[in-house]
Amino acid sequence: MTAQIIDGKKLAESIKEEIKNAIAERERQMLPIPGLATVLVGNNPASKTYVANKIKTSDALGIRSFSYELDENVSLEELESLIKELNDNPDVQGVLVQLPLPEHLSEDKVMHNISPKKDVDGLHPYNAGLLSRKYSEPLFYPCTPSGIIRMIQSVCPDISGMNAAVIGRSSIVGMPTAMMLSRCNATPTICHSYTKHLDEICRQSDIIVAAAGTPKLIQGDWVKPGAIVIDVGINHIPDSTKPRGYRIVGDVDFDEAVKRAGAISPVPGGVGPMTIAMLMSNTLKAIEYRES
Ligand code: NDP
Repeated sequence: MTAQIIDGKKLAESIKEEIKNAIAERERQMLPIPGLATVLVGNNPASKTYVANKIKTSDALGIRSFSYELDENVSLEELESLIKELNDNPDVQGVLVQLPLPEHLSEDKVMHNISPKKDVDGLHPYNAGLLSRKYSEPLFYPCTPSGIIRMIQSVCPDISGMNAAVIGRSSIVGMPTAMMLSRCNATPTICHSYTKHLDEICRQSDIIVAAAGTPKLIQGDWVKPGAIVIDVGINHIPDSTKPRGYRIVGDVDFDEAVKRAGAISPVPGGVGPMTIAMLMSNTLKAIEYRES
């Protein structure tokens, strides 16, 4: 058996097309178009690439982008003052501070400053708190977990009753993904670096979401035949045959897992493009809060 490939790039394209059309329609109706502010602190090359992609995608969809690049040594007060300015700017519906931040800046403190109504990353404690409450809806669902759920539902719309292993418990990926799976009536097991018998947990799971940041952590024979495998990991492996001197791999031993899984997402071309598409979707949604 060879698994169906969950093509995140293709799925993301169709979501972005819908967003582009919705924005074009707003323009036709002379309604305000959404604006997304990105704040990049320092010179982390990966962060620079992520922010550049977000700006490029915003521009392609008709979202206005406002880009801010701050020095590595910027103070918390200066960053907070910029965020306050963006919260008050009626042309900006979404405020995104690219993570990780330099060590002297507390990510928690910075996130607290973003208005929950402009928290298009869905990481503000207010939105994270609502996500964890059974009968509440956050204003925004976090982007990567939203993309993961859309990918799973693209091959299996109803995951009620399924067992899911989520490997990773970060606030950005693992924990909110587990909560969203539970909202879809799946039963998640949240795994982390202290989890025992990870292989057994995976073998009993109908869904595996791998978000540990460890290449080939999930081995082929850990995958239950027919399972849905979503590989979130982004790992840079030295490779002298590549122009940049490295290649990007996920957390799953793809070549082996593909033989057992029912559906599997590749890296690259899986969760990455979906994360950006969901950010754009949240930015469009944010304009509704301006109008409410
Ligand atoms: P973090 O480093 O914040 O979290 C990693 C998690 O994995 C932690 O909970 C850690 O456990 C757990 N973990 C690490 N090693 C193991 C192991 N051997 N067994 C079980 N659990 C383990 O990373 P993020 O959540 O931010 O990101 C995870 C991966 O996803 C990274 O590769 C990142 O680059 C990628 N990513 C991809 C995105 C995309 O759009 N494609 C977006 C965001 C992230 P503990 O808590 O005990 O330390």
